[in-house]
Order: sequence, then C-alpha cells, then structure tokens
Amino acid sequence: MAGIYDVHCHLNDNLYIELDISSSELVRDAKDSGIDLLNCVGYDVKSSKLAIIQAEKNSQVYALVGIHPNEAHLFSDEAVEQIDFLANANKVVGIGEIGLDYSRSKRYKDRQRKIFRDQLNLAIKHNLPVCLHFHDDGSDQVYRDGLKILKEFPKLKGAMLHSFAGPWAVAEEFLNLGCYLSFNGDITNNKNMREAATRIPWNRMLVESDAPYKAPRPYEKKINYPRFLPVVINVIASLRNVSSEVVIATTSDNGRELFGLNGKKDA
Ligand SMILES: [Zn+2]
Repeated sequence: MAGIYDVHCHLNDNLYIELDISSSELVRDAKDSGIDLLNCVGYDVKSSKLAIIQAEKNSQVYALVGIHPNEAHLFSDEAVEQIDFLANANKVVGIGEIGLDYSRSKRYKDRQRKIFRDQLNLAIKHNLPVCLHFHDDGSDQVYRDGLKILKEFPKLKGAMLHSFAGPWAVAEEFLNLGCYLSFNGDITNNKNMREAATRIPWNRMLVESDAPYKAPRPYEKKINYPRFLPVVINVIASLRNVSSEVVIATTSDNGRELFGLNGKKDA
C-alpha cells in the first residue's frame, strides 16, 4: 500500500511524549505502512504549537491548530488570539479540532459553544477548513447544536467531521451542509460508523487514525499508531466491495482537495 492520507492524528500527544516516541519515528513507521501524508491536529495552544513544529520537521506532515471542546473551559479568550496567530504558520492547513463534546460533562456547554463560534470565525478569517469534533451524550443534542451553529457560518471554506459515529439521518444533514466525514478504528466495532461508511458518497469520504486513540481491532486495548490505518482502509474496501487501492486513492484525493494540498509544495 502507498498513498494513504491520514487526515487526523496526534503526533503531538502527551502519550507519545511520555513514551519518548518522536514524530519522525511515527512518520517513518507510517510510511512503511503506506501512509504518505498526515495531519497533526492540535487540541490546545501548546499541542497546536507542537503540531506546527512537527510539520516543519517532517515533509509529510501538515498541522491544524485549535482548542478542543473538552479543553475549552480551561482557556481565556487570549487562547483564541494565540490560535489566530498560530494559524499564520506555513504548514497550517486547517483549524481543529474544534466543536462540542457533551459526553464528559453537562457543564461548560455555553463556554464550549462560545469558543467554537470564535474559532469558526478564525477559520473564515484565515480561509481555512475546519476539523470538527462532536461527541454525544447518548442523545443527538450535540449534533443539533453543532448543525445550528455551522449554519451561522455559510462562508466557511470547508469542514470535516472526524470520527463520526452518529446515526445515518444525522450524517445526511452534515453532508447536505457540504461536510466530509472521516472514519477511524471505531469502524471495526461501531455499527453507525459502518453504516455511514457504506452509504456516504465517495467524494465526501476521508480516513484518519486519530492516533494515539481509537485503535482498530485487534489493537483496541493498545496505544494507536498511524501505521494501523490500513486496517480501516481494508474494512471500508470490504464494506463497499472495492479494492483497498480505490479507497486509498479516493480518500487521499478528497483530503488533498479539502486541505488545499493540490499544488502546494512541501515545506
Ligand atoms: Zn483527535
């Protein structure tokens, strides 16, 4: 395999730092598994800075900068100003991951919504696409709120919904807004994700490892690595009854289109 685009991973995660695994090692191992491009995604100011450094170091890596909804309550408005500044860096191709997460706590929802809107404004200001994180609490309220807010920003350049595991009816609403959906290791055990991966139009499909999280079976009890992403590709290929090469070529083209890499030179 070759030519895979992992549109969402965290080479910058503390788990790798604690294990003393460098981004260069992760990228080299990924390359051996056929992954040629990776988006390293920030979740707070510090990890966003690190994503930029890792992108500068590794020609295959691009960076997204943003504040994750689970971190939103920890940050003042100055943090958004810092993301605004970081978004100017050379290899930043998007704002993320941003969104709403109602799964961990009922608290801080207003704060989450505010910082989400602030960062959508940043994406428009910088003409960058966004990587969205919506995680539910068992109801579909997070998707309702997310869709309502997204509709306030019709000038958004583009959006991908990472790790989508909601019902197909909800997926269709995001697709109608022009969003891409990205599939990860949960596809090996999540019915909703399998259904969405089966029904989504080809031109909206992306793949991601979300490493070090969301390891696919049979690695699910372990730390995830981008190099496990071919497992996800193979599941999609069998669901859609095509070769893995078709899934790779299609998702890679879609990712390059969304993140503006066509015609963009490596740093
Ligand atoms: Zn993530």
